[in-house]
Amino acid sequence: MTGSLTVIGLGPGNPDQTTPEARAAIEAASDFFGYGPYLDRLELAPDQTCHASDNREELSRARAALEMAASGRSVAVVSGGDAGVFAMAAAICEAIEQDPISGREIDFRVVPGITAMLAVAARAGAPLGHDFCTVSLSDNLKPWDVIEARLRAAAGAGFVLAFYNPISRARPWQLGRAFEILREILPEATPVIFGRAVGRADEHMAVATLGEARPDQADMATCIIVGSAETRVIERKGRAPLVYSPRSTGRPAI
Ligand code: SAH
Repeated sequence: MTGSLTVIGLGPGNPDQTTPEARAAIEAASDFFGYGPYLDRLELAPDQTCHASDNREELSRARAALEMAASGRSVAVVSGGDAGVFAMAAAICEAIEQDPISGREIDFRVVPGITAMLAVAARAGAPLGHDFCTVSLSDNLKPWDVIEARLRAAAGAGFVLAFYNPISRARPWQLGRAFEILREILPEATPVIFGRAVGRADEHMAVATLGEARPDQADMATCIIVGSAETRVIERKGRAPLVYSPRSTGRPAI
C-alpha cells in the first residue's frame, strides 16, 4: 500500500498566517515529523502522532518520513515559514532521489507557507518592493567563501538582501564579517531591518543604518533585510519608521 508525504509550511509563527491549505493538510495527516518547536505549534487529534527530532538531523528525518509514507501512512513533515525555503522540502527531495524505489512511488506534495522574510518585510513597510535576493548565512552546508562571493555579487548588482540563519552560538563571527563586506559596497546610510520572532509573542523589530548595524542585534530567530542604495526610510512621529524600496530604478550608481 502506498501512502503520502506532504511537506507543510506553517508560516512564521502567527496562527493567522498559516494558510487554510496548510490547515487542511495537517488535518488529513496521520503522522508528523519535524523539529520539536514546530510540532508544538500543531493542535492535533488523539489519533495523530508526532515524531520529534533534532533540528540538524534533516536528512535522517526525511528518510524516516519517507519510509513511513512508503508503509502506507499519511505523513506530514512540517517546517516554519515556507517548507521550501531553507527547510525540509529540499531534504525530502534529496531522500527521494537517493531512494528511487519507494521514494518515487508515494504521493508527494509541498504546501507553501509565508516565509519569514515576507513577514518581516510586511512589518517594516515594503523593503522588497524592487529586486531582491535571499541568502542563508549558515556555512554548515556551503563554504564561507561562497557566501562572501554571493554577498559581493548581489549587493554590487543592487539587490536588496534578506539574510536567514544570520548568527548562532556555533557561528558567532559570520554576520559581523557580512556587514563588513557590505560596508565596502553600500552607503553607510543603507537601512538594515532586524525582524526577530515575527508573528510570535516575543517579536521585536529594529531598523538601523548599515554604518551602525551590529551583529548582537540579531539572534537565530532573526531575519535581516539589508536595503539597496535606493531603499528609503520614512520617519513618522510616534510610529515606527517605514522602510521601502521604490518600484523603479535608473541605473544604480554602484
Ligand atoms: N523555512 C523558514 C526558514 C528556516 S531557516 C522560512 O521560510 O521562514 C531559519 C531562519 O529563518 C532563522 O534563522 C531566521 O533567520 C528565519 N526565521 C524563521 N522564523 C522567523 C520569524 N518568525 N521571524 C524572523 N525570522 C524568522
